[in-house]
Amino acid sequence: MNRRRAAVLAAVALLIAAFFALGGHRVLTFENVKAQQASLQATFAAHPWQTALAYFGAYVAVTGLSLPGAAVMTLLGGAVFGLWWGTLIVSFASSIGATLAFLASRFLLRDWVQGRYGQHLRAVNEGFAREGGLYLFTLRLIPAVPFFAINLAMGLVPIRAWTFYWVSQLGMLAGTVVYVNAGRQLAQIDSPQGILSPGLIGAFLLLGLFPLLARKAIDAVKARRVYARWTRPPRFDRNLVVIGAGSAGLVSAYIAAAVKAKVTLVEKHQMGGDCLNTGCVPSKALIKTARVLAQIRNAQSYGIRHASAEVDFAEVMARVQRVVKAIEPHDSVERYTGLGVECIEGDAKITSPWTVEIDSGGKKRTLTTRALVIAAGAEPFVPPIPGIDAVGCLTSETLWDLRELPRRLVVLGGGPIGCELAQAFARLGSKVTQVEMLPRLLPREDPEVSELVRHRFAEEGVDVLLRHKAKEFRIEESMKILIAECDGREVRIEFDQVLCAVGRVARTRGYGLEELGIPTTRARTIETNEFLQTIYPNIYACGDVAGPFQFTHTASHQAWYAAVNALFAPFRRFRADYSVIPWATFTDPEVARVGLSESEAKERNVPHEVTVYGIDELDRAIADGTAQGMVKVLTAPGSDRILGATIVGEHAGDLIAEFVTAMRHGLGMNKILGTIHIYPTLAEANKYAAGTWKRAHAPQGALRAVEKFHAWMRG
Ligand SMILES: Cc1cc2nc3c(=O)[nH]c(=O)nc-3n(C[C@H](O)[C@H](O)[C@H](O)COP(=O)(O)OP(=O)(O)OC[C@H]3O[C@@H](n4cnc5c(N)ncnc54)[C@H](O)[C@@H]3O)c2cc1C
Repeated sequence: MNRRRAAVLAAVALLIAAFFALGGHRVLTFENVKAQQASLQATFAAHPWQTALAYFGAYVAVTGLSLPGAAVMTLLGGAVFGLWWGTLIVSFASSIGATLAFLASRFLLRDWVQGRYGQHLRAVNEGFAREGGLYLFTLRLIPAVPFFAINLAMGLVPIRAWTFYWVSQLGMLAGTVVYVNAGRQLAQIDSPQGILSPGLIGAFLLLGLFPLLARKAIDAVKARRVYARWTRPPRFDRNLVVIGAGSAGLVSAYIAAAVKAKVTLVEKHQMGGDCLNTGCVPSKALIKTARVLAQIRNAQSYGIRHASAEVDFAEVMARVQRVVKAIEPHDSVERYTGLGVECIEGDAKITSPWTVEIDSGGKKRTLTTRALVIAAGAEPFVPPIPGIDAVGCLTSETLWDLRELPRRLVVLGGGPIGCELAQAFARLGSKVTQVEMLPRLLPREDPEVSELVRHRFAEEGVDVLLRHKAKEFRIEESMKILIAECDGREVRIEFDQVLCAVGRVARTRGYGLEELGIPTTRARTIETNEFLQTIYPNIYACGDVAGPFQFTHTASHQAWYAAVNALFAPFRRFRADYSVIPWATFTDPEVARVGLSESEAKERNVPHEVTVYGIDELDRAIADGTAQGMVKVLTAPGSDRILGATIVGEHAGDLIAEFVTAMRHGLGMNKILGTIHIYPTLAEANKYAAGTWKRAHAPQGALRAVEKFHAWMRG
């Protein structure tokens, strides 16, 4: 615990102790207040402002310190100040006091509680972050939940202080009026317990539940309204139609068939989508060849005097296609038909919330379906830079048709796809210039991670131009030129081919979304709720078309939710869980991450500690000649809970799996340290990172004590 926290805790403890020592608990009893009523009324008559101020201050102190007696003080407020003034004073004093208690709990306890139990509180945190105000309002109106407990508990969950204040004031108003009013007849009341009759408690409960019920009702009405202009078929041919057979569509259809639903999967181009045909698979196959070449070039450092390689680029690309072909059966029509999925080749168009028209080479047919999953993916974004069409820009979709290695290649974009391909082509022998308008490569990662990658690229001869904005493409005397701008000056880059890798946009046009009025987000993905439903509750979207991620594994992850929700709602539905999302960029060194980076933790004000283990110290990496990189782990202060991990180095994409499992299942650094890792492996880096964390958190006091013990044992 830091000094400021210790000082606040001591002050609070002192004030509470003083309250009991001075007999405050005996003063604030129902009987005593009743007995003192007349004299307090006389004091108020003689000194109205001073009495009101003193009462206000005392009320704030009692509630702020969570002391017993708030209900009795409210009755006293009614007895002394009357209904209107009493209500006004108590309403503000109780809300301010409650907010002070809330802030104290937040300051003293939140980090500790979240650090220790954050994993178990995930659903609670998400719920409060989304609709904390509504929950608080309901709690304030349920008399069974004590006032002070709400204040302290709310300090621990993600709700803003201002929201807490005004919702508390609003939520407590009805109860305040009832108690203050009862206080006016204080002399006739025998105990505070009888003030709330069962009828009144029921009315409060209804009032508390009203906003939640109203929201549900509004949602239901909204959902019905979107269907108003469509005619629902009396029965459906299918339980589910899935549009797109990429990672998201294949998994959606597979899940549906596995639970015995009648499902149709429609694909207009190639089964397997981008990942198999133009994305992950071909790019990783190309990267492998590039890596083999890099190793051959580095052969001397392993004691091999002569090792040379001659690249046959056409054969490299032929191998890439052989790899795609080898994996193709996993995503084939035959396999999915065998699994119980009806596969149709054709262009799907949604014609109503329950009908899909499929155009298979001019032959059209319409299917009716109870639910729909849109998994139409994304495509490369080509920015409207003047002259870009004239120079013929390659994208991740057209790149795979190349059979001649570009001599000079410009790669636009410093994100994962740009970086992977820039390095691969440089290793294959192209003179690569990578142009990125931001100040660093891989801008989603921490700056030192970007720097490690940039440094390696520079060593390997990639000309990385940061803070360079592509302005124009020109052809001068049949020479292709890119004009970029850096710090106000013009830079000319001559090239033979340009690869555009500046991002991918969701496919949202031309298949019915416009006609149905399904909205898209600012990121141009289909707008969905936490269940992956569009504004039509029976139409779902997942994968790249829905975002926010653009990975194969997140597409399949979402697909499970989309398919299960589409088939089993309204009886059972699940919120898509994005709490632990890993990814990797397959450059050399690889960069893999799960959870928060240090930059994100700072931006979001998440309390954290950073542990870094340098892979240059790892025995296996030294033996392999790959001793570069690091394991960087963010943990919650005061606990071993992992908030995020980044690994840079050989096989980082595989090594990160240990942290993914740990985060998913609430295992901390102590558990990683307590697990046997085989020697000598790269995976040991994770254990050493946990060891570095442990050393920094060794209990110094206990160590000093055992040192003395050992000295004493030596005699
Ligand atoms: C070069 C590159 C490298 C990548 N590397 C990785 C990586 O290493 N790891 C990783 O996780 N991700 C990687 N990705 C991203 C990954 O490929 C995508 O995230 C993934 O393919 C998304 O799957 P999806 O099912 O959402 O969409 P897609 O795979 O795009 O599938 C959508 C399918 O829908 C079809 N379709 C669209 N409209 C219709 C219609 N109206 N009717 C019928 N069919 C339709 C399309 O033809 C397409 O086949 C990479 C991407 C690229 C471009």
